[in-house]
Amino acid sequence: MGLFELFENRKEENIQADAAAAPEQAPDAPVQEAAGPEEKTGFFARLKKGLSKTRDSLSGGIDNLLNGYAQIDDDLYDELEEIMITGDMGVHATQKVLEDLRREVREQHIRDPKQCRELLIRSIRDEMQLPEDAYAFENVPSIVTLIGVNGVGKTTSVGKLAGIYKARGKKVLIAAADTFRAAANEQLAEWAKRAGVDMISGAQGADPGSVIFDAVSAAKARGVDILLCDTAGRLHNKKNLMEELAKTSRIIDREYPEAHRENLIVLDAATGQNALQQAREFTEAAGLTGIILTKMDGTAKGGIAVAIQSELSVPVKFIGVGEQIEDLQRFDPDAFVEALFHG
Ligand code: GDP
Repeated sequence: MGLFELFENRKEENIQADAAAAPEQAPDAPVQEAAGPEEKTGFFARLKKGLSKTRDSLSGGIDNLLNGYAQIDDDLYDELEEIMITGDMGVHATQKVLEDLRREVREQHIRDPKQCRELLIRSIRDEMQLPEDAYAFENVPSIVTLIGVNGVGKTTSVGKLAGIYKARGKKVLIAAADTFRAAANEQLAEWAKRAGVDMISGAQGADPGSVIFDAVSAAKARGVDILLCDTAGRLHNKKNLMEELAKTSRIIDREYPEAHRENLIVLDAATGQNALQQAREFTEAAGLTGIILTKMDGTAKGGIAVAIQSELSVPVKFIGVGEQIEDLQRFDPDAFVEALFHG
């Protein structure tokens, strides 16, 4: 089977995956203090545990392959390609990583397939590097808008981020601008209460723009460090949704132009290539600055993190590896690759 055929098959399977399968759950985790060395170990253990399914399929598959070959030839490259595509790393990243590998093998005169492992890992890590200012928004007054379709984990991620930043001593405000999903307000109010942060909301069906307007005014007046905005994931149709997001963005620009803007798309890793498609659609309406990749813990499709970063040139800034507050982590390419290949 050719590379593109394989990719198309994977895409079909993923499009059939259900983005909104997980049941809703109230927050039940304590808010953590800023990360010290011990906590970092805890983070890594969670990351490792969260990535176990992807590790079994992707790095387990690569190991089996490399151990089973006596020499490096085209068949080996073809099979590596298949494993990476099947692991949802995407055509773009897979080709890039294999090109790097072929070049290194040639230049360093490598003959033993097992030596390919570290080269592959290094190349994947290089693909995932974040820009230096990726988290600059955490240190200046900023408005962080979370967007994405229903069920991906937007509301939960707003709640988790509120808890994380509040615990770091930031002044946090939440805007509950998903006025269309019935349970969103209550769900978010529960997170806000637990985190001990204020929330601005509107009645169900209210104009999300008015909630954003009120929240931005309050953020300015109260000297808020981080305003976290939840947004609707579904309106009457996709065009309405995109227009609503663009309108929200104009309101923020007009009312608080000095604030740093961070537009994070929330994607469910378990939906694989479909997540990539969602990101493409939202890019036009929302000028994305980063990605929150949730539910990495429930899937073997964690390679999608590599595909997304490589194909969209939008950095993955946070990953979700479980339902507790501590399971939403800053994305660290070194830790990611370490947990995936050496875990
Ligand atoms: P929204 O419609 O995008 O706002 O999605 P929600 O925030 O309501 O989340 C949908 C479901 O996904 C909830 O049950 C969350 O607990 C769950 N969820 C969110 N992030 C993660 C994650 O990283 N791992 C797991 N296992 N579940 C998650």
